[in-house]
Amino acid sequence: MKTVSEMFGSMVFDDRIMKATLSAKVYASLKHTIDEGAELDPGVANAVASAMKDWAVAKGATHFTHWFQPLTGITAEKHDGFLAPSPDGGVIMEFSGKELIKGEPDASSFPSGGLRATFEARGYTAWDPTSYAFIKGKTLCIPTAFCSYGGHALDKKTPLLRSMEALNKQALRVLRLFGNKTVKRVVSSVGPEQEYFLITKEMYDARPDLRFCGRTLFGSKPPKGQEMDDHYFGAIKPRVAAFMEELNDELWKLGIMAKTEHNEVAPAQHELAPIYTTTNVATDHNQLTMEIMQKVASRHGLVCLLHEKPFAGVNGSGKHNNWSIGTDEGQNLLSPGETPYENAQFLLFLCAVIKAVDDYQDLLRISVATAGNDHRLGANEAPPAVISMFLGDELNAVLEAIENDAPYKGVEKTQMKLGVDVLPKFNRDTTDRNRTSPFAFTGNKFEFRMLGSSNSIACANIMLNAAVAESLKVYADILEGAEDFESALHDMIKKTIKEHRRIIFNGNGYDDSWIKEATEVRGLLNYRTTADCMPHLLDKKNVDMLTSHKVFTVEELQSRCEIMLENYCKTVTIEANTMADMAKTLIAPAVERFAADTAKNAAAKKAFDQSVPCGYETRIVKKLSELTDRIAEKVDELQSAEISLRDAGDVIAESAMIRDKVLPKMCELRVACDEAETITAKSYWPFPTYADILFSVR
Ligand code: ADP
Ligand code: MG
Repeated sequence: MKTVSEMFGSMVFDDRIMKATLSAKVYASLKHTIDEGAELDPGVANAVASAMKDWAVAKGATHFTHWFQPLTGITAEKHDGFLAPSPDGGVIMEFSGKELIKGEPDASSFPSGGLRATFEARGYTAWDPTSYAFIKGKTLCIPTAFCSYGGHALDKKTPLLRSMEALNKQALRVLRLFGNKTVKRVVSSVGPEQEYFLITKEMYDARPDLRFCGRTLFGSKPPKGQEMDDHYFGAIKPRVAAFMEELNDELWKLGIMAKTEHNEVAPAQHELAPIYTTTNVATDHNQLTMEIMQKVASRHGLVCLLHEKPFAGVNGSGKHNNWSIGTDEGQNLLSPGETPYENAQFLLFLCAVIKAVDDYQDLLRISVATAGNDHRLGANEAPPAVISMFLGDELNAVLEAIENDAPYKGVEKTQMKLGVDVLPKFNRDTTDRNRTSPFAFTGNKFEFRMLGSSNSIACANIMLNAAVAESLKVYADILEGAEDFESALHDMIKKTIKEHRRIIFNGNGYDDSWIKEATEVRGLLNYRTTADCMPHLLDKKNVDMLTSHKVFTVEELQSRCEIMLENYCKTVTIEANTMADMAKTLIAPAVERFAADTAKNAAAKKAFDQSVPCGYETRIVKKLSELTDRIAEKVDELQSAEISLRDAGDVIAESAMIRDKVLPKMCELRVACDEAETITAKSYWPFPTYADILFSVR
């Protein structure tokens, strides 16, 4: 048995391997690129490719692939063999610098939202040296960015890297103003906590809705759900423990720091959290984690459900995006410092985040918008669709004191002014925890809790990095020109607090009264669905900000809006079709069979003795007939709603019709079917019930 440290990163071409296999010169050049974003010396690529190939072949790899993240939200790979013919009739294993740096997959089968004209079917992939190559199966995977020949990003990694660059640039300007001359790079980091469900393969296979949609479209509430609170942090069942053990091994081999695992609130729900790393690597790792979870589950006769809302009435799954920014010198810029001066810097970065979240609430909401996540946000288990921030009592008191020029506890001077000798050291507030805030400060990082479990974390971090870069830019522009740095700094922090106080909310985010206050009093946005929020991606203020930091081009934004809305429409349409199908071909016939048999029983009883009342049978048969009529009627209405989509004209109109016509009809059909489930004999029901599925893993 290998120890964890022997196993960890054994399938990764990481720093240890680079150091051992590359010449000092090549290593130094590559390191320069990785650490400081310097352009890669082309001469270095051949040497790296050759070392990579030798290492991979020694580990049994036969193929390589440029691994990328197209706008489908999952990862893509096309495998090429290393082998090349040798003159003596045999083969040699080859891999050139050119093949490492650039690939040319056929881009025409990936969504491009009009970015890729048909004559320009090819796109190209470009090596991202900041994320280590790794071996998956027998394939060397090279993390890459994916672009069209016109240079537009067709993936999620490219804008993420651009957003990190924008943040780096603006944060460095601010740090220079605080007198830091040595810091070279500022990087954002993320630790995503991943929730998921595990069910048995038998249950999954027996449900067309799970197979086609990843969630159940029918199912009445089981007699026991999560009300006993006995699952959260409960003892892990042996079969689940075996899954987790193997999952950890697989993740560790890939250098993914899987650290925490526990049961979640709902039955059959679990969570995995890795140790945080840079946003780019964390995104790659999270994509890999989701893929490997599913693979490992299938080896255990299980299925891992990553859908945001697999079961109605049972908690859904999210992903908490723990985000911070730090320097290459190891300073966390969101950590309150030791000295008042460091705290002034901390407060400025804190304000930058406050301003960013308030100014770009819409972009943050958009970054987590999918048909699946719409079921979760605001469902009293996940944060609402309204974005607000939680800071905790101590920070709140500090901000209030600054805003009102009032004394802060522990400060003797009457006025709280930021400066070398005035702002006291304050402790980080780790004890005060708020679980209902969409965006909570947790001591030295922010936890953005609106992400859905299947979302790529790239989108949320692109928007966060970009929006904070914008705040920092505004600050740096003013502070660089200020005559008196300290008073300008003070004024700016005060102004930010005054202007953006509305986004700070320390109460219960699940409360209905909060939504009322947020929207009616504070004027915060409440985009309940993907159809509501997505078109605002193209609002002028958003386009201006994102293009000015070179995170997206206008065309890229247009294409993304279109792809995301198309995805929403397609997802719901597939669900609607699956529902209609299941209702017509499985549910209605089963209910009919039970009704007919019940009627037959009554007839048999009557034949035996005319005076037998048969009240039970009569009531059931009547009720079931009524329900099958209603089911048939609702199927018709749902299908008419779907047909009406043909007249939508464009995807924005279509998504609004999906929201207003199709989804409500799906709900009505479900209500009728779920009611039928509660009075149909279990042996007649055509697929496993919630109780069967949720308690299937033992
Ligand atoms: P919980 O939120 O469940 O109490 P933690 O706060 O310990 O758990 O950590 C949750 C996640 O946050 C982990 O992935 C952890 O690595 C990550 N994390 C911790 N510190 C930071 C940080 N400074 N920046 C980004 N992520 C962090
Ligand atoms: Mg957490």
